[in-house]
Amino acid sequence: METKKICLSERQMPTQWYNIVADMPNKPLPPLNPATKEPVNKEPVTKEQMSAIFAEELIDQEMSTERFIDIPEEVQEIYKIWRPTPLVRATALEKALDTPARIYFKNESVSPAGSHKPNTAVPQAYYNHKQGIKHLTTETGAGQWGASIAFAAKHFGIDLRVFMVKVSYNQKPYRRLMMNTWGAECVASPSTLTESGRAALKRDPDCSGSLGLAISEAVEVALRSPEDTRYCLGSVLNHVLLHQTVIGQEAVAQMEMADAEPDMVIGCFGGGSNFAGISFPFLRRNFVEGKKIRAIAVEPESCPKLTRGAFQYDFGDVAGYTPLIPMYTLGHNFQPSDIHAGGLRYHGAGAIVSQLLKDGLIEAQSIPQNETLAAGILFARTEGIIPAPESTHAIAATIREALRAREEGRAKTILFNLSGNGVIDLYAYEQYLAGALKDYSPSDAEISKTLSQLEKLI
Ligand SMILES: *Cc1c(COP(=O)(O)O)cnc(C)c1O
Repeated sequence: METKKICLSERQMPTQWYNIVADMPNKPLPPLNPATKEPVNKEPVTKEQMSAIFAEELIDQEMSTERFIDIPEEVQEIYKIWRPTPLVRATALEKALDTPARIYFKNESVSPAGSHKPNTAVPQAYYNHKQGIKHLTTETGAGQWGASIAFAAKHFGIDLRVFMVKVSYNQKPYRRLMMNTWGAECVASPSTLTESGRAALKRDPDCSGSLGLAISEAVEVALRSPEDTRYCLGSVLNHVLLHQTVIGQEAVAQMEMADAEPDMVIGCFGGGSNFAGISFPFLRRNFVEGKKIRAIAVEPESCPKLTRGAFQYDFGDVAGYTPLIPMYTLGHNFQPSDIHAGGLRYHGAGAIVSQLLKDGLIEAQSIPQNETLAAGILFARTEGIIPAPESTHAIAATIREALRAREEGRAKTILFNLSGNGVIDLYAYEQYLAGALKDYSPSDAEISKTLSQLEKLI
């Protein structure tokens, strides 16, 4: 019988994160201070500003060019709750597709929060704790990040306050309850706890909130208590991508154990962290060993920053608090339609991933949501796991490639990242099964409108 799951022992878990910046032919452009347009790392004032928001060690990692960075033992200890994660051969999916392709997936859905996000939540909580920080703040849309950082903060005795966009707070109670179960406070945003929240409520008492507003509230609370409070972010930034490389490093070892070499590595794309996590260690093999492994980022057709956005300096957040980051973006004012893959409704991409795309070292595809949910259902009915709506984008792209392999009669090897499970997102499946899901593709005019609002700095 063929092996279905390839598992590593705890002793084979990576002890370092991989920093792709060390191996990139062109380094990402520096982040700019939104006020002066000077590179942040040449501006002590701005670095100070950054350290009022983020833990010191995370800022150092953000700017690091070291190839490997040690994973603290305290972090490895908590990783062991669910890591190493299995690599699985999707034999039943292959059979259903009648494809000669060999399909593998890395199962990141086995973490306590049900996604890859705890891979960065744990070190972020750890470094804040090490610095003596007692309170963390963050924002969350659908709640995946809020739940992950709630789980992580508890381990280090840090109090966490999560500002959750009010419409999700009311419509999606389960991740809020996960946060509460792990001991975090989850507040509907806009709230009366901050200036920005109160101002929004004064303008419109029925305001249902937005991610931008929730960020403003979370950052405001952190800035108010610089002695013991910091803010944290679950995607986009370099240090977040760095932490996620445990995924790909394990997968490199597991693919070797399976005696398989991927022709392509596929990940869904919101801000870029799970895609980076699975693909960067394989890209290293391209850079160092001259391999030609394709890395494919898959975004929703309704939020197509990689395939239809522009390479520009833009804010990481909607509110304009973060430094200006060089990225593929639709403009921070772009309003993505309300698709079910909430984690992929982000206007931009991280700086590293954007540079790699610009240099033609990775590829991007976009897929409409009906196709992705159909893929999710086929996956659930073959491999058993109900995937997160975000992850179904990677599955849909995998299916496209597997069907192409069948047409061409070529036995390609495909590896994709299953970034999370969808047991708390069953509403998306209900809508799909009822035939009520709509596909949406923004017009060129819509995209150029929000892009034209950006100051041209490149
Ligand atoms: C948040 C999330 C994503 C998108 O974020 P990235 O930073 O692009 O990885 C994808 N899948 C799941 C399950 C998520 O929770």
